[in-house]
Amino acid sequence: MDLYFDNAATTKLSDKALEAYAETARSFFANPSSVHRPGLDAKRKLEEERARIASMLGIGQEHLFFTSGATESIAAVLSSLLFTTPGKIIISRIEHEAVASWLPILRQYGWETALLKAKGGFVDPEELEKELTPDTKLVAVMAVNNVTGAIEPVKELVRRTREYEKLSKRRIFFFSDSVQALGKIPYDISSLDIDGASFSGHKINGPRGIGMLYLKNPSSFRPLAPAGGQEKGKRGGTENLPAIAALRAALEEWMDGRDEKNLRAKRMKERILQALDGMGFEILSPENSSPYIISFSSPLPSEVYTRMLSDKGVYASSGSACSNNAKGEGEKILLGMGIRPEKARNAVRLSLSNSTTDEEVDALIRIIMETGNGR
Ligand code: PLP
Repeated sequence: MDLYFDNAATTKLSDKALEAYAETARSFFANPSSVHRPGLDAKRKLEEERARIASMLGIGQEHLFFTSGATESIAAVLSSLLFTTPGKIIISRIEHEAVASWLPILRQYGWETALLKAKGGFVDPEELEKELTPDTKLVAVMAVNNVTGAIEPVKELVRRTREYEKLSKRRIFFFSDSVQALGKIPYDISSLDIDGASFSGHKINGPRGIGMLYLKNPSSFRPLAPAGGQEKGKRGGTENLPAIAALRAALEEWMDGRDEKNLRAKRMKERILQALDGMGFEILSPENSSPYIISFSSPLPSEVYTRMLSDKGVYASSGSACSNNAKGEGEKILLGMGIRPEKARNAVRLSLSNSTTDEEVDALIRIIMETGNGR
């Protein structure tokens, strides 16, 4: 039995998503920018899909833009800063590389950068408040951390930012990378009051190569690559309509009965945590984190322990492993939350999906017990 516990890295395309992909690719193959009938049909389908997704997100469809993935959505926002006079950007130490990798680039263009600690996994609103200055233009703090599952206090961070805006009379763009939040925790864009957010299809059983960008005020957003003017001039390039339809179908599956599914995942997570704790592993995920992510430290280097699990058919990841190219990314995030280096080096992540079964969890626990803790 293959036991796939690496759903925070990517998920398997669901059957419904695959069907929606195939059906849309067959029936709406024309370019949505073409003005002939099939083109107009594709355009109508595109706007229908946008409206359905926007409604699931609780936002107006004019705020939703399709991209090739979260990395591109994030790049669109951070690269747009290059059009403005340099100021200060504040991000957390636990951001994904898709965000963090922009800091050296912005520094090169004269931007001041500040990193917020995340002691115990969480960004402290007081620390953000201390960093806010009149020249602060953007704050980025993710909704759910991809390594530990920590749910960040975004609402409170935004509240403090808005209070500061009132005093300084300057606008600050609050961005929240929400890849690991969508469908997986209660998440409401309007009540968070953020200015921008990124989402990814392949983390919720949709296809790769499709993502979304939320913009509260699209009219004030100037992208670096408007190209052919698609997506109301905010993102050039022919829209990936089959992938958009598949993303909608996948999101519907996550949102349908989301709270019960999350509760089910929470119970499974608790069982796994109990087993790990009983074996003497140190749990790194904070309490009340995402029900879908478990981070723990074994006495062995993470590559060794994940290899031992893999040999028994359990597929987990060491550190973050959204990409093995960004080596040490997970470790950097764990260090950023104050975990000791030897513990961070030995970190393993198990991540669940909405389709993970109790039988799979039973088998996982059995294999963890069999494998031992390496002592
Ligand atoms: N942000 C977070 C928190 C992630 O987990 C990932 C996953 O790799 C990304 C951004 C990048 O997403 P994508 O693969 O859609 O570019």
